[in-house]
Amino acid sequence: MRKGFRIIKFKKNKPIFQIKDVSKSFDGRPILKKINIEIFPGEIVGLLGPNGSGKSTLYSTIIGEHQADSGKIFLKNIDISEKPIHERAKAGIGYLSQQRSVFNMSCYDNLLGVCQLSIKGSKNQIAMVEKLLDEFNLQHLRNINSSVLSGGEVRRLMMARILVNKPSLILLDEPMSALDPIVIQDIQKYILKIQSYGHSLLITDHQVRNLFDIVDRAYVLGEQSIIAKGTPSEILKSSKAIELYFGSSYNA
Ligand code: ADP
Ligand code: MG
Repeated sequence: MRKGFRIIKFKKNKPIFQIKDVSKSFDGRPILKKINIEIFPGEIVGLLGPNGSGKSTLYSTIIGEHQADSGKIFLKNIDISEKPIHERAKAGIGYLSQQRSVFNMSCYDNLLGVCQLSIKGSKNQIAMVEKLLDEFNLQHLRNINSSVLSGGEVRRLMMARILVNKPSLILLDEPMSALDPIVIQDIQKYILKIQSYGHSLLITDHQVRNLFDIVDRAYVLGEQSIIAKGTPSEILKSSKAIELYFGSSYNA
């Protein structure tokens, strides 16, 4: 799956999301130091970095599971740094965790449960569930308990569920890990579909190619900081990223 000829021009003057000088440590051990990231409306931005470099920690700091030690986080120019987790979600942050996180019930009920919390009227709730089942190719799995879904199917269900709250920014933590190549291509297709609905996305993965196929820009985390940023071709030329992440024998 390649973006190929898709050329999307982003309005680069007004970021929808900004991380400014965010630092985070655990028990006195610094994990992230003065991280700066910005995302423009409708962009897919990648976050690359080796295992343990702090990608998931950055996500947990963005969603409010952990408080940053210092720095600010802005969504649509509003400072959300001090807000609790549910208010950040309400403000427009959607999050798909690295772990499988679905309720032990059918796909239909997983979606209906979330719709009941955020959409008024049972008719509207059911209409949204049916729309998401259609759009994420889940109709044939609607009555299946989500605990028995395959890796690709559960990712589709989790992505569908995120959309219920119409988030402005969606954080996907390793949505393509531990999947077969053909399923990765399928997930990439759905990520591009979500972008086409107008959402901005921040996506992590440690498989460079999987991410570079679909992102508009990316950041590389290393040594607790952002060591490279830009379009995939810019990042592949970064001597620091080659030294600390890709290795000199990496072939794009
Ligand atoms: P990545 O997602 O890039 O693989 P993580 O953000 O999961 O990396 O982890 C970065 C580092 O932070 C790791 O060394 C990990 O052990 C540590 N870490 C993550 N969460 C916690 C926590 N809640 N308490 C203490 N250390 C943590
Ligand atoms: Mg992680």
